[in-house]
Amino acid sequence: MEQTKSSRQTEKKESVKPSIYSMELDELKSWLKEHGEKSFRAGQIFDWLYIKRVTAFEDMTNLSKNLRELLAEHFVLTTLKTAIQQTSQDGTMKFLFELHDGYTIETVLMKHEYGNSVCVTTQVGCRIGCTFCASTLGGLKRNLEAGEIVAQVVKVQKALDEFGERVSSVVIMGIGEPFDNFDEMLSFLKIINHDDGLNIGARHITVSTSGIIPKIYQFADEKLQINFAISLHAPNTEIRSRLMPINRAYKLPELMKAVQYYIDKTGRRVSFEYGLFGGVNDQIEHAEELANLVKNVKCHINLIPVNYVPERDYVRTPKEQIFRFEKVLKNRGVNVTIRREQGHDIDAACGQLRAKERKEETR
Ligand code: SAH
Repeated sequence: MEQTKSSRQTEKKESVKPSIYSMELDELKSWLKEHGEKSFRAGQIFDWLYIKRVTAFEDMTNLSKNLRELLAEHFVLTTLKTAIQQTSQDGTMKFLFELHDGYTIETVLMKHEYGNSVCVTTQVGCRIGCTFCASTLGGLKRNLEAGEIVAQVVKVQKALDEFGERVSSVVIMGIGEPFDNFDEMLSFLKIINHDDGLNIGARHITVSTSGIIPKIYQFADEKLQINFAISLHAPNTEIRSRLMPINRAYKLPELMKAVQYYIDKTGRRVSFEYGLFGGVNDQIEHAEELANLVKNVKCHINLIPVNYVPERDYVRTPKEQIFRFEKVLKNRGVNVTIRREQGHDIDAACGQLRAKERKEETR
């Protein structure tokens, strides 16, 4: 049987109250009814949380004092403390947030011509172990609650409020493997997508996975209209297993089958992320092999110049080689783009800021 939000919450230590940002609108309605309140108050609470964006229950002035006290008794409102906030020359903003238990997570705001995009974290650390990634260096500490993911968007929106701007899109591409924290991630999606709340359109949300195959099937069955990306990074099983140990459990041919199931089920195109790692997967023959792999797949390929991670010894592919790689794919009719880099001067790539902090802590 599917575990409900409240049962997940009661499993937690009693001393830690759940975040109100973890509650979907319908869950809030049921909770209110159970506590002798009218369910329409849920819409008012959503309005205070996501439209007026207050930071204390007592500011929710159209609720009775009793209800405000009841909420404060059962939930916390502020779950993230801003430890570091940096702005890059290109406008990218990076936040390091401290959680109630002292762990830190990163969130990045990217400025694009089409709007403001927030990259959220779903786990403290990661257990997937990709050999090029900074997020996985210390292993997985714990999953985030839906509300801790929602609060990242709210915090960034509050920073944007100062400029009268709005978060227009969300990418679930920060630290962690979202499909390894699947239920909380789905709750997060429902909360930020709700039109009584932040109202971020499904087509403005992207989730990326390293390829947890059973969850891809489950995700496909949800038939959401959100954008779906898969970290592919290799044209064949041998190279993928070298870069991403998860490929030993969830092999490339099965991954491609699951992706095809997703496409058939949703009718949507997928994105493949392909990091170019010098001498490993960036040769012309790899581009040819990649073109064959995705030949009949409704997809788009995002080429990512590798972000240098001091603990990892991968080298960057020279620019001309990246263009040659792209050209091979284009000539073979594959939709492909090279990812624009942002926030270099503030360690905005996945896990870099947090990795740096961790190192300073252990010094
Ligand atoms: N765990 C999910 C979400 C992370 S998304 C996933 O793996 O898809 C972040 C993207 O950046 C992933 O495609 C990841 O593989 C990629 N990435 C991580 N470290 C990188 C590095 N050093 N250089 C380039 N891309 C990297």
